[in-house]
Amino acid sequence: MKMEKEFSAETRNNDLDSLGKTVFDAVIIGGGITGAGCANILSQIGLKTILLEKGDFASGTSSGSSKLIHGGLRYLDQGKLGLTRNLLKERNYLLGHTDLVTPVEFRILTGPGSWKPWKIRLGLILYKILGGKNRFPAFHKNPGIYGSGIDGYFTYMDAKANDAELVIYNIVSAHNSGSVCLNYASSESISSVNGEYRIDVRDVITGKRHTVNGRTVINAAGPWAAEIMKMAGLSFSEKFRLSRGIHIIFRKDDLNTDSALAFRSPIDGRQIFIIPWEHVTVIGTTDTFVETPDNFSVPDNEVEYLLKSAEYVVGKLDRHKIIGTYSGIRPLYGEGETPGEISRDFSIVSRNGFISVLGGKITDYRRVSRSVAIETAKHLGLKVHVKGLPAINYRREEHGDIYRHILKYECPLYPEDVIRRRTGSELFDPDGRDEEMAEIQKLFKDALKEGVPVDKRPDS
Ligand SMILES: Cc1cc2nc3c(=O)[nH]c(=O)nc-3n(C[C@H](O)[C@H](O)[C@H](O)COP(=O)(O)OP(=O)(O)OC[C@H]3O[C@@H](n4cnc5c(N)ncnc54)[C@H](O)[C@@H]3O)c2cc1C
Repeated sequence: MKMEKEFSAETRNNDLDSLGKTVFDAVIIGGGITGAGCANILSQIGLKTILLEKGDFASGTSSGSSKLIHGGLRYLDQGKLGLTRNLLKERNYLLGHTDLVTPVEFRILTGPGSWKPWKIRLGLILYKILGGKNRFPAFHKNPGIYGSGIDGYFTYMDAKANDAELVIYNIVSAHNSGSVCLNYASSESISSVNGEYRIDVRDVITGKRHTVNGRTVINAAGPWAAEIMKMAGLSFSEKFRLSRGIHIIFRKDDLNTDSALAFRSPIDGRQIFIIPWEHVTVIGTTDTFVETPDNFSVPDNEVEYLLKSAEYVVGKLDRHKIIGTYSGIRPLYGEGETPGEISRDFSIVSRNGFISVLGGKITDYRRVSRSVAIETAKHLGLKVHVKGLPAINYRREEHGDIYRHILKYECPLYPEDVIRRRTGSELFDPDGRDEEMAEIQKLFKDALKEGVPVDKRPDS
């Protein structure tokens, strides 16, 4: 399990300096879960791989999800049995192979506006048949703790994970298997010369330009995938759409539930989740078409929508007690009048070794990675075995000086990289985060090499 190689700001500087010397088998653009999974599997099957991420790893959609590792009961209602079966298989694998993914028991609530109880029971039986892990669904009457509109609930088991941490573990695993992984390295242009790709990369920290050469390009830019295709002179389908989802966060004590809840909003019938973590409870999400991948706003009307929907279940909520919000942009690929109707499955579009991943879910990242590995190998004329891959071969030290360990082995360049995407305390630990931030800031000042700015964000 333990194969740690230093992966620090200094590693990044050295990797940047030696970029021109190598022709990579695969150049991955995007360091969210898709790119991280691809870098991990491609390096594990022995390909010379590099990953380029314009911000920090997981700074896009992969830190803005509902953080569920699930089969998606809702997809059963849409008749997408195959997708749910695949997602449940991946959920079960992750539950069995990494303690980053933990089980969570949901209560799915019934009442006017919910799915009919017989339908929920049928759905849960199917969920159990497709993914196991669940008992025969029994109905429980509302014990008086939920709003008067709620008749009762069924329970079922799914899983959750700190999405950003899952990305980081895959990135470090890829690094341990030989992949170069660069954060704050933006792909600015892509050209094709004699059957190879040439990518112009800007170091977002220093502004310095570098050239990366590769035999294939994996476009894993999530919501930015169309921009990367455009950069390479490729056309893209109108079936590629973007949708924003927001979440609001309360202290756990300020919400009247210790259980994870799933229910349909009385406002429009969309599915809403209320998910308790150790110190906080997260409510989400919305699903609104947007035109640009950079629209990470948290509009007031969407906050209001989540509050009103949740109040139907847990009673009056004080808006002033919201302690955090976040927003993410879904890359979707498929047909549909509303974002909710568009499939959550992924598609791979491949042309002359330029391989784009469109759509997908965090839960499905290993299946995406395997498909990309097979496609990449095909272009390179190689035969590969991808069964059981990609594997996570990194584990953070739990004892001793955790932050020092993170600095040395997880390549954060700024204090917020640590508390937002590595420990997650910015979201999950409202009482501990300031102290942690102060400690990390001090460590950065002491430890980082000269020339790496730590006080202000780069202009990306
Ligand atoms: C509100 C919401 C809730 C969700 N809930 C769930 C859930 O509960 N469970 C689940 O399984 N899935 C969920 N999803 C879906 C899931 O989050 C996404 O499918 C997944 O995170 C997409 O990952 P990605 O790596 O493709 O994209 P991203 O994570 O966005 O990664 C793409 C990366 O590419 C980088 N990039 C872009 N342009 C460039 C460039 N020029 N050079 C270098 N890098 C570049 C970006 O900075 C970004 O980090 C949810 C999504 C949303 C929005």
